[in-house]
Amino acid sequence: MVSAVPKAPKASAPAAAPVAIADPLHDLLSRLRLTALRDRLDGLLDDAARRDLSMREALALLCEAEVAHRDQRRVQMGTSIAKFPAARTLEGFDFAAQPSVDPKLVRDLAACRWVANGDALLIQGPPGVGKSHLAIALGREAIRHGYSVLFVPAMALMAALVKGHAEGRLEERLAHYAKPKLLIVDEFGYLPFEPAAAHLLFQLVSRRYERGSVLVTSNRTVGDWGAVLGDPVVATAILDRLLHHSHVLTIRGDSYRLREKRRSGLIKAAQAAAPAAVED
Ligand code: ADP
Ligand code: MG
Repeated sequence: MVSAVPKAPKASAPAAAPVAIADPLHDLLSRLRLTALRDRLDGLLDDAARRDLSMREALALLCEAEVAHRDQRRVQMGTSIAKFPAARTLEGFDFAAQPSVDPKLVRDLAACRWVANGDALLIQGPPGVGKSHLAIALGREAIRHGYSVLFVPAMALMAALVKGHAEGRLEERLAHYAKPKLLIVDEFGYLPFEPAAAHLLFQLVSRRYERGSVLVTSNRTVGDWGAVLGDPVVATAILDRLLHHSHVLTIRGDSYRLREKRRSGLIKAAQAAAPAAVED
């Protein structure tokens, strides 16, 4: 406050310029890289005083603030690396609208033991029933649990492998897709692949086998994979590895998108039932 500053006597030496007082605690926290704690220190200390916390409780409060900030930053970074096409969460999944999905099973999957074990997860069902939604939401949970995740549409994955092969850079591409702890391959089987691609996918699946998890969403059952890959022998070899340690989530029922449109009166129920196959 200005009024509290004593005035310098007029005839004596000129008043010293105000000096910013260095806060040693501030510097120590910087050196320890406890930056979130440093930046929020005053507020947190006030909070601790107001709540009359013991030293130990106050220290816990300060540490929690730093840890929460780091977790948040890690999840943000992991999410941007994962390249999810949209933001989807388990909280945003309406289980009542999709009775074929067992909430208990999904909660269990959200604990990510399957990712820790390097198991595969297949989510299969018709278009619009929430396969990609659950894949993204489970991917987010994996990131929260500290795992690296990469999301890729099946067609983009195959195109990247074929291109890498043609350019003599297959190894680089395989390494890229083998690296994340969880690789999410979305919309497998919507379009058939060229036969050469099946071998490249086999190489990727072999490389990841028992090391990293693969989550595949598909509108086709595994019995159709031979046709999708254009090579039943390679399809069997891929499935043999994928299904060795695997979980399968089969979603039945109506497209959620059509259901929403139907609700809003955009289309009639009779129309909605028929074009489900071309809806996606
Ligand atoms: P799929 O991958 O099976 O074709 P999506 O996951 O893309 O279907 O779902 C289509 C849209 O409907 C998405 O916007 C998704 O978030 C939403 N959706 C699907 N099922 C549900 C659900 N049970 N609760 C909330 N939103 C859902
Ligand atoms: Mg989808």
